[in-house]
Amino acid sequence: MDITLNGNSGYNKTESYDDEKTTRLSELYEESLRLLGEDTSREGLEKTPLRVAKAMQFLTQGYNMQPDEIVKSAMFREDYQQMVVVKDIELYSLCEHHLLPFFGKAHVAYIPRHHITGLSKIARVVEAFARRLQVQERLTTQIKECIQETLNPLGVAVVIEAQHMCMQMRGVQKQHSVTTTSDFTGAFLKNIATREEFFNIIGHKLH
Ligand SMILES: [Zn+2]
Repeated sequence: MDITLNGNSGYNKTESYDDEKTTRLSELYEESLRLLGEDTSREGLEKTPLRVAKAMQFLTQGYNMQPDEIVKSAMFREDYQQMVVVKDIELYSLCEHHLLPFFGKAHVAYIPRHHITGLSKIARVVEAFARRLQVQERLTTQIKECIQETLNPLGVAVVIEAQHMCMQMRGVQKQHSVTTTSDFTGAFLKNIATREEFFNIIGHKLH
């Protein structure tokens, strides 16, 4: 699968699927459907294994993305040292324990030291890590580390609020519970006022 990430025009993707991988995945999904008691020859399911094979490759395309490179592709020297906040970044991921979706919003902030990056790049970093098999905790930390390591800012803050289908559809069935994770570096870690300012901007209550 090739993913073409196109600089200034936002989020352009060129999808093409590895034929061999797609065929093999289709066979395995057909087998899975049979094991689940389905008649895979019925009309509605005829192309389902192929669709699932493609959908799963799409949903895990983050493995083919280099988040560090996304940030570096639009990195500028700048002396602005106030908080930059990108909030309400839509996020769709798959929990690695059940292969069921979790989805919600990410809020990312950083305080530049010498460099800033394009605002759309922050959203694309979230996307690159989310389109993999994940747990919300690791996703939060990976986004934080990527921005810290590439921009070397005075601090990074990441908050993710998400609903997990594996909780809502099975097991405890806590229908509307939202899981919040957060991770911080530098000024956000050391300075409570800075952290509070961030929480105020994203409209999140501390307690
Ligand atoms: Zn799960």
